Amino acid sequence: MAEPIVTYKDVHKSFGDVEVLKGIDLDIYPAEKVAVIGPSGSGKTTIIRLLMTLEQPTAGDIIVDGRNLWKMEKNGKWIHANENHLRSIRGDIGMVFQHFNLFPHMTILENCMTAPVHVKNEEKSDVKKRSIEMLERVGLGDKLDNYPSQLSGGQKQRVAMARALVMRPKIMLFDEVTSALDPELVGEVLNVIRDIAENDDMAMILVTHEMDFALDIADKVLFLDEGVIAEQGTASEVIEHSENPRVQSFLQRFR
Ligand code: ADP
Repeated sequence: MAEPIVTYKDVHKSFGDVEVLKGIDLDIYPAEKVAVIGPSGSGKTTIIRLLMTLEQPTAGDIIVDGRNLWKMEKNGKWIHANENHLRSIRGDIGMVFQHFNLFPHMTILENCMTAPVHVKNEEKSDVKKRSIEMLERVGLGDKLDNYPSQLSGGQKQRVAMARALVMRPKIMLFDEVTSALDPELVGEVLNVIRDIAENDDMAMILVTHEMDFALDIADKVLFLDEGVIAEQGTASEVIEHSENPRVQSFLQRFR
């Protein structure tokens, strides 16, 4: 089997006195699709924010592509292990948030182009071509010159996905990307994720409350409960056949 692209080793994270992750051990393999489920406040978002380096761990190792993201200095402070590695892995990880986070003053084409051109210094004409292809792929080829405010929530979320894909990430993180949408717009966004899951070979980590969807696309499901991975297995093992009472009571809400 290939080496994991991401490894968490006994990762802890506290905010002040509150420990929200209490020792996470996890391997994610290239192309693997991982769904993270669990009650609100169990630490799901924190797991992916750590990978995106939006938060620092309190203890433990997070290894991406064979290298640690952080190291501890003698004074006990965490620093980025290697700035070059950090820059390159940030380029390898795409994230889609619950609240879209599009740039309101840019057209949707400009939203897709800005990071590859200004962060990765890629050739503008190549990026433009790829951005148009991605926006067509998510069904927005006729909206290139629109601004985010002119789009529905579902369309904005599809722009956010195209923008992440233009970076050609090795890992895509989706943080409850349908939670802020009106119910009738959820399907169009899930369809785009399904298309990516089926046709692209990147690893995906999805924090989601869409159980049927997780069952459909995830290779592995993690059930997070009070800061620990309380159960993990195939989607069917966790969502359909778990005997863990905490999993069962959590899933009850979705039946
Ligand atoms: P989930 O995604 O499972 O709902 P989160 O990872 O968002 O859980 O949050 C886990 C816990 O950590 C929650 O109790 C939340 O209030 C707390 N938390 C998250 N981020 C911060 C922060 N920046 N400062 C303080 N507490 C935080």
